[in-house]
Amino acid sequence: MNMERKKIVAGNWKMNLNWVEAYDLVTAIKEQSKKISGVEKLIFPPFPYLQMLKVIVKDEPNFYVGAQNCSEHAKGAFTGEVSAAMIHSAGCSYILVGHSERRAYFSENNEQLLAKIKQALENNLKVIFCFGELLAERKNGKHFDTVQDQLTQVLSHFPKDKIHSLVLAYEPVWAIGTGETASPQQAQEMHAFVRKTVSGIFSPEIANTVSILYGGSCNAQNAKELFAGEDVDGGLIGGASLKAEDFCTIMASF
Ligand code: PEP
Repeated sequence: MNMERKKIVAGNWKMNLNWVEAYDLVTAIKEQSKKISGVEKLIFPPFPYLQMLKVIVKDEPNFYVGAQNCSEHAKGAFTGEVSAAMIHSAGCSYILVGHSERRAYFSENNEQLLAKIKQALENNLKVIFCFGELLAERKNGKHFDTVQDQLTQVLSHFPKDKIHSLVLAYEPVWAIGTGETASPQQAQEMHAFVRKTVSGIFSPEIANTVSILYGGSCNAQNAKELFAGEDVDGGLIGGASLKAEDFCTIMASF
């Protein structure tokens, strides 16, 4: 953990919870995290709850709401899509881009990811850009190549003057929702590699300011060890973000 970079704990709720459950969860997180400072608290609920949850946390310092996805288009005849402008107007601050579930189940490619990033930045939203290797790639020793490709193909088009709007999330696909976590050594090793790659694309100074989160079965038990890595600046949390107590324990794990 580096004291100068922003520390962030973000909860990706995915397609879970009804309206009342979402209300109850955010109310509990708000109460239980009041004494936790020095970390950006961030939740990514499903679209229908964004505005309601933003109202609940609006007076909490360092507490933000983001959307799990946005359209690659600005507006118009795209039935069922939600634009970055709409998300921003609902009070959100962030968009998740490149999550492995969207890459795998919705076949999102780099071109679409870049279009979504463009929409997010044009609408004053920050981006958490997710990437990570498949199990087979790690087994074949290809994990660094995969991550380097994913980063280079997208970040080399990311505007340098908007770098303060970028957060990275290393999420090995074999660890997402599987209960199998990267070891603290594996996480730190990859995060250092990611920082080096970002340094090559932008500059060492810029690379040193970008927060890199770990995601993949991070929970209340293992967060402290994972966050102890010099280049691990927090976590993107799926399953464990649906329990207020666990999520707040993770926020307090620095
Ligand atoms: C995620 O979906 O980004 C994630 C990390 O999920 P989980 O914590 O459940 O592995």
